[in-house]
Amino acid sequence: MSLIVQKYGGTSVGSIEKIEQVAEKLIAARKAGHSIVVVVSAMSGETNRLIEMASRISDRPEPREYDVLVSTGEQVTIALLSMALNKRGYAARSYTGSQVHILTDSAHTKARILDIDESRMRADLEQGCIVVVAGFQGRDEHGNITTLGRGGSDTTAVALAAALKADECQIYTDVDGVYTTDPRVVPHARRLDCITFEEMLEMASLGSKVLQIRAVEFAGKYNVNLRVLSSFEEGPGTLITFEDESMERPVISGIAFNRDEAKLTILGVPDQPGVAYQILGPIGEANIEVDMIIQNVGDDGTTDFTFTVNRSDYEKAMSVLQNTAKTLGAREVTGDNAIVKISLVGVGMRSHAGIASTMFKALAKEGINIRMISTSEIKISVVVDEKYLELGVRTLHDAFNLDQASAA
Ligand code: ASP
Ligand code: MG
Repeated sequence: MSLIVQKYGGTSVGSIEKIEQVAEKLIAARKAGHSIVVVVSAMSGETNRLIEMASRISDRPEPREYDVLVSTGEQVTIALLSMALNKRGYAARSYTGSQVHILTDSAHTKARILDIDESRMRADLEQGCIVVVAGFQGRDEHGNITTLGRGGSDTTAVALAAALKADECQIYTDVDGVYTTDPRVVPHARRLDCITFEEMLEMASLGSKVLQIRAVEFAGKYNVNLRVLSSFEEGPGTLITFEDESMERPVISGIAFNRDEAKLTILGVPDQPGVAYQILGPIGEANIEVDMIIQNVGDDGTTDFTFTVNRSDYEKAMSVLQNTAKTLGAREVTGDNAIVKISLVGVGMRSHAGIASTMFKALAKEGINIRMISTSEIKISVVVDEKYLELGVRTLHDAFNLDQASAA
């Protein structure tokens, strides 16, 4: 008998009717012969409602108390779901994270899972019981309740699947899988049957927010087969897995994009050791994360230096950089916060030449000016003006025929 961990997100358990539907789905899986551990989120909107209440009392509530509060959303769902299963004649038992010994560090509001004692769950499973676990939470070594960060129920599910050595971890959500790109931008975007962990990490961190990134990292690290499926429609979903040597992968799997970009340039800085550090050191100290970095070739003893930050950090980064410019005697500081990043992602890029030129040619044909370029082993990113986002993504989707399942 195979063991499956299923996770249902907030929209999938957003009402009593939906919780009853989840119970039906679990029973179907049970009847198909699987042992089931199910992880649930809080009912949709509930975590936000709890956070809002806390904010009415304090701008900065004690993180320990914040976790006690926000972990309650999931506790409601586990009890209701177990009741729905019991009503249908199926044995089910609900547990908070703490009760199944999800041990975390003490970093309240963003704790990391250290260990899970799966014996209690195993004992229930052996008796044919459906085990219902609250997502997003655990406890630290002192017994304090902790939470794992927004979207953390995905990570709970993957961690339980790893601890129990489950055959598959299935994340049920409101989309039916991972797509070649956002279907709101490209209506004929295609659902991928499978994607590698590496690609998924690139897609997720670039803005395709289907899964909590930490959950994907965790699954990759512990060898958990992860599948994203729709709670509302039947279908195979998308399997996130390891690169299979026997299977030829498509060259490009998808196109990710990020609208929240801004770039800053400092012109005419001395071309000498330590300057990159003098520019980016203060940016880091201001807690601003830098993404792309480009330094030009210096000719007259000076050089230009450009980097991108999240758009919400633009003003802050600009004022830090203006100070640095004074110290360094730089000629000028310029910036642009109406830019976006578009990235081609695919493990097949490793073994195929000419991807970049195909990309640049397609963009050129549409008159889209590329402002910055960066590459890694499985990704090529370009920065373009915001107004070209939709056109750029559609153009590339067509140029690489992503609407068609690749041959083999
Ligand atoms: N309920 C939590 C949140 O809204 C955790 C989760 O849903 O994964 O972020
Ligand atoms: Mg969620």
